[in-house]
Amino acid sequence: MHRDRGGGVTGSKAEIESLDRKRINDALDKQLEKSSPSTSRGLSGKKERLSVPSSSAGKQPDLKPAGQTKNNRSDEESETDGGDSDVSGSDGDDTSWISWFCNIRGNEFFCEVDDEYIQDDFNLCGLSSQVPYYDYALDLILDVESSHGDTFTDDQNELVESAAEMLYGLIHARYILTSKGMAAMLEKLKSYDFGRCPRVYCCGQPCLPVGQSDISRSSTVKIFCPECEDVYYPRSKNQGNIDGAYFGTTFPHLFLMTYPHLKPQKASQRYTPRVFGFKIHKP
Ligand SMILES: [Zn+2]
Repeated sequence: MHRDRGGGVTGSKAEIESLDRKRINDALDKQLEKSSPSTSRGLSGKKERLSVPSSSAGKQPDLKPAGQTKNNRSDEESETDGGDSDVSGSDGDDTSWISWFCNIRGNEFFCEVDDEYIQDDFNLCGLSSQVPYYDYALDLILDVESSHGDTFTDDQNELVESAAEMLYGLIHARYILTSKGMAAMLEKLKSYDFGRCPRVYCCGQPCLPVGQSDISRSSTVKIFCPECEDVYYPRSKNQGNIDGAYFGTTFPHLFLMTYPHLKPQKASQRYTPRVFGFKIHKP
């Protein structure tokens, strides 16, 4: 069911999206309208995520290379992590929503956004009008104990989670343009988390994620090769379903301006089609 829900945040079809949003709105309107939104932004506790442990375990398996410690959600790791996201740390079994989300299979392109960044309202300016049930979604992302959490049904929790994923994606698109966000993405680039260019003459050049639009639900995420300066579909289908707006049109280019030493020389070698050894004449 989480897979279905994951599909809900993907950006392949606009109609699906509008239905999705309507569904979220309708279902939650009935139940939540009278409740005042939770405004607490404290770090007091972690909201229980009913369906998280089983489904994330199911989606967890073998994708990550062993060296990838930052996003490893095992207990030992989260304690030695340096923990910019594990804010409470009181429960060894628990993991922050952000690190859970980033470790879902297919979400390898996402870095973990700093809690402090999300807690600064300035950084979230304008997002409340784009995301349904913004306050609940924000509380979920920040693991803030919501007073309404216990009254939600499983279905409602699922809808709020769907909204939270969208909100996280939109925050993420902004965060990766900051110096901290770029540093986090640099680590992921070094681990080849975004994949390599499939073009033979790019010789396995590591790629960066890019959106073809900054408006959510316009197109899915692509990977940009700094060498041939072209865009490609991600190799994994799960990754290919992610909304491109969660990365944005600017990121890889600003990233390469920030770290110019990572910009390879422009690809000079091109493939030449030949028939019986002769170049093909172009009319
Ligand atoms: Zn390339």
